[in-house]
Amino acid sequence: MKRRDFIKVGAIGAGAVALGGCQKDGSAKNVHIKRRKTIKIKLATSWPANFPIMGTGVEGFAKRVNEISEGSIKIKVYAKNTLVPALGVFDAVSSGSLDAYHSASYYYKGKNEAFNLFTGYPFGLTAQEMNAWMDFGNGMKLWRELYDKYNLVPFKGGNTGVQMGGWFKKEIKSLADLKGLKMRIPGLGGEVFAKLGVKPTLLPAGEIYVALERNLLDATEWLGPSLDVKMGFQKVAKNYYTGWHEPGSMLSLVFNKQKFAKFSKEQQLMIEMASNEMNSNMLSEFQYKNAVELETVKKAGVKILEFPSEVMSEAKKAMIEVAKEKSAKSKDFAKVWKDVQGFLAKNREWTDIGLEKYLKVRDS
Ligand code: CA
Repeated sequence: MKRRDFIKVGAIGAGAVALGGCQKDGSAKNVHIKRRKTIKIKLATSWPANFPIMGTGVEGFAKRVNEISEGSIKIKVYAKNTLVPALGVFDAVSSGSLDAYHSASYYYKGKNEAFNLFTGYPFGLTAQEMNAWMDFGNGMKLWRELYDKYNLVPFKGGNTGVQMGGWFKKEIKSLADLKGLKMRIPGLGGEVFAKLGVKPTLLPAGEIYVALERNLLDATEWLGPSLDVKMGFQKVAKNYYTGWHEPGSMLSLVFNKQKFAKFSKEQQLMIEMASNEMNSNMLSEFQYKNAVELETVKKAGVKILEFPSEVMSEAKKAMIEVAKEKSAKSKDFAKVWKDVQGFLAKNREWTDIGLEKYLKVRDS
């Protein structure tokens, strides 16, 4: 074959491939991409606009879904109070007036006590164990079953990792020092501390610093150095206690069931994959930024302390009491509690032999 003829045949060959995608009228159409209608999602969060890590994390999720779905899913993220109040997101998505939300399950414990356990609980699972319970234990199955009753489909939405025990104006040297103490501490941690004599109060984020400064509050928990130093707590409380009550709080990304059913199977998988990515990214970001901001805490002359062992052993007993009371009142709580405690019992031994022993030798 002459070189000229070869080029000619080659050109026809390439043309034939291109023609495969042409319509009878000659118009070009890429047959490999099924053209879908763009699905628009309104996603409301419980966080202020541009809230570090949690808020920026869910913005990243929305961007990622838009990219991997080639624009077929467009998620618009709304900060708290833009469409609904911070804690109005659950009802709005359950009723279908909004499509999705990013929040934390324990905020809605008033609807069902079992919701506490899908965020975390005092002396409970670490972030790594929580992920294991979700992915390889019954965690996700139980969560999906329960949320289905509320017309919702939940996904893992990030994890804070271990949270600090909080900022105290005075040092806690014994159980007696907790009596009558006014502390901002939500959730099961607050219920446990209440049994030890603490008066738990719930204040909106914007009011905590001033209340602490004016001695209207003796102590507050928030999260860890990453977000706590932004609140300025290091300036008004000089005793920072290590964690016990939120050992690995998981956030939640939740879709309205009917809206979620409108996605194709592929799109649903994209949401799941991107939520897993957000879950892991957020934990990494908390790990990194807590470490960075720990320097700020130390520079402010804050003492980093552990609660006396009598306080922690009483708190542990109180947690068992709280769980018993809730199990008696709520069948859902009893069911999930039994499962998660069983998972913890099995996993604790491995965590103690694996991670804990390693940390001991690393630090010795
Ligand atoms: Ca907290």
